[in-house]
Amino acid sequence: MRKRVYIAHTGGTIGMTKAREGYRPARGNLQKQMKAMPELAHSSMPSYTVHDYDPLLDSSNMTPVEWVRIANDIADHYREYDGFAVLHGTDTMAYTASALPFMLQGLGKPVIITGSQIPLCEIRNDARENLITSLMLAANYDIPEVCLYFGGKLLRGCRSTKVSADGFAAFDSPNFPPLGTVGIDIEVNWDLVRRDKRRRKLQVHELAAPVVSALRLFPGISSDLVRNILRPPLQGLVLEAYGVGNGPDKNREFIEALAEATARGVVIVDCTQCLEGTVDLHEYATGSALARAGVVSGYDMTAEAALAKLFYLFSQGHSPARVKKEMQQDLRGEVTLTVHR
Ligand code: ASP
Repeated sequence: MRKRVYIAHTGGTIGMTKAREGYRPARGNLQKQMKAMPELAHSSMPSYTVHDYDPLLDSSNMTPVEWVRIANDIADHYREYDGFAVLHGTDTMAYTASALPFMLQGLGKPVIITGSQIPLCEIRNDARENLITSLMLAANYDIPEVCLYFGGKLLRGCRSTKVSADGFAAFDSPNFPPLGTVGIDIEVNWDLVRRDKRRRKLQVHELAAPVVSALRLFPGISSDLVRNILRPPLQGLVLEAYGVGNGPDKNREFIEALAEATARGVVIVDCTQCLEGTVDLHEYATGSALARAGVVSGYDMTAEAALAKLFYLFSQGHSPARVKKEMQQDLRGEVTLTVHR
């Protein structure tokens, strides 16, 4: 019996057509292209159902509302299919790939998020390989995780980040090895694959609309700007700081703005602006000043994963103290807790 894969087509370049104003999504287009691909009808390929979302979105227009929609769509079709492929624009793919693992608790089947830099309708494209391999991974590999497959790499979703605006190797997970690599063979690093040992049933944690935000530090950042962003009703902030998590400790007003906010219960999570490596708030005075102001370490989490985790934890209705605690715990393989002081 052929395996069955459910394809949630949310939009993105992969299924776009060329219009006068540039590439844009068009309903039915992807299915038409796929029907014309003999390789998808091959007996080694799974059977599939494509669900075109309405509207199909350029992923720059995605919001947490769409994350919930995707999670519920997977849950609604969970029993009928062996695996799931989510076709998605690359621009915010890493955000969706970071949010879904928190929302899909007890996942026991593969969810492979993919897309492309060039649409399937173009002669030269990366869509064909990304699509075929993602379908194979979703159908035949027992990887019960939300993954991102792109350009030969199978990545843990909540570790992924977009690293190239125009290359075919557009995604990476710099702080975690790929779950798999695809060359002549599809090689899965099975030791890294997470399994829910409690064998829970799939449960969707929907997101409410907590007020969370992200702020990237830059030299000369004004304390007024920081104070403004930290105003109520803000509940959580991903602070993208320098190096191992440092910030301008000589700017007293900046530090005071952070301290006032954390005293009010705002959870501020420190992530590094660097692509690789971990936050250690105790390596420099410029980091420990942030820790004293109540900022917590995001360790080696990507900013995308930290933001998604804040959305998830606050949506659970947790207190700021509980959110703070769980931000520093590994919930879905999103963080390496190496620095303990
Ligand atoms: N703007 C597109 C999107 O994110 C880019 C892509 O899919 O590659 O939907």
